[in-house]
Amino acid sequence: MSRDEMRALQGKRLRETVERVYANTPFYRKKMQEMGIMPEDIQTVDDIVKLPFTVKTDLRDQYPFGLFASPMSEIVRMHASSGTTGKPVVAGYTRKDLGIWSEVLARTFSAGGCDSRDIFHIAFGYGLFTGGLGAHSGAERIGASVIPISSGNTEKQIQLMTDFGSTVLCCTPSYALYLAESIHKKGLQDKLKLRVGFFGAEPWTEEMRHEIEEKLRLKAFDIYGLTEIIGPGVSYNCSCQNGMHINEDHFLPEIVDPETLQPVAPGQVGELVFTTITKEGMPLLRYRTKDLTRLVYEPCECGRTNVRMEKIMGRSDDMLIIRGVNVFPTQIESVLLEFAEAAPHYHLYVDRVNNTDTFEVHVEMRPEFFSDNMSRMLDLKKRISARIQSVLGISAEVKLVEPNSIPRSEGKARRVTDKRNVYANK
Ligand code: ADP
Ligand code: ZN
Repeated sequence: MSRDEMRALQGKRLRETVERVYANTPFYRKKMQEMGIMPEDIQTVDDIVKLPFTVKTDLRDQYPFGLFASPMSEIVRMHASSGTTGKPVVAGYTRKDLGIWSEVLARTFSAGGCDSRDIFHIAFGYGLFTGGLGAHSGAERIGASVIPISSGNTEKQIQLMTDFGSTVLCCTPSYALYLAESIHKKGLQDKLKLRVGFFGAEPWTEEMRHEIEEKLRLKAFDIYGLTEIIGPGVSYNCSCQNGMHINEDHFLPEIVDPETLQPVAPGQVGELVFTTITKEGMPLLRYRTKDLTRLVYEPCECGRTNVRMEKIMGRSDDMLIIRGVNVFPTQIESVLLEFAEAAPHYHLYVDRVNNTDTFEVHVEMRPEFFSDNMSRMLDLKKRISARIQSVLGISAEVKLVEPNSIPRSEGKARRVTDKRNVYANK
């Protein structure tokens, strides 16, 4: 599809969506009326800038069903976000929405080279979290054999994976790593038939990808999404593994400056914003994801014409401001994984002592490098600190910790403890 054709399709679907929410969602009707906008003011994609933004607190204020645009008799499923940052937000799906969801995931899995011959081991959590049931429906849609194991119970995961000959693994990157370590400990690497993995639901770096690919001997694809928009499958890696193609015939992306809320210049980094243009149950206008990335309109080598977004740097919520310097956990991850001695497990501690921010980076050592040779350890600490200083422009107190001492995660990893908030709330 050419860009012009895509834009025409998006324009048409945007008009339909605006009409739908104006008619069915009092929240949006009121917002549009306050701004003096009528549905007919929206004709093309470019008119999107006239529409109001939606933020997470709007969803919380409208809890539970205030943003639904379909009667409950048409809602066939509900999910809620995992609540990484507070009270959950609720999403409602009509039968058509579920069809869209499985379609975008079928695209995701096909782009990764999967088909009906594959055995999908789905270790995303099932339940209110969108990961499990979302991936499940996409895998069924391509006709694969699906193992709905959900997350947790690592022993059993490994047993079924080897006994059933799973070829595809879906879970968070941190759980993939945990599984990989457990498999290595048991020496079962050769029993695995995995060839592809779809990992997402949390930020991870290219370095982490290489780590997982090597340990599990598979090709790892990034898969992005959020409950508010639909769940996983909003965008996906193709075989080039270079940015994620957005399913932009369903989810219309924009990048805005998080301060001014104006669109950024093409190709600049900013906050990712989505308008759902085909959803019935809970369509959202200009939803601010808080995720930071940029859009890439250059053609992709795979031949797909839909726009790509780069790997997520992090959520603006995750950004730490330490002594005035902006730091994303993913930046630290990239630096740490440059060191052969460092395992991909780390935790950041931020505190405030005598009005100065303190910043500690705890990094786990790989067992083969862990030693009680103090001078060697000291030298490594210095090299890691120097590298953090040169890449991020901030000094950090690096602590090398024993193998297996940092807690592993079966879902989304928590890598930051910021004690400054405790004082702020007092
Ligand atoms: P919660 O907000 O409770 O974590 P979700 O489970 O809906 O709820 O999480 C969606 C968020 O997870 C996204 O906004 C994004 O920050 C993060 N996320 C999802 N997939 C990816 C990915 N592939 N890369 C980086 N971050 C991701
Ligand atoms: Zn591509």
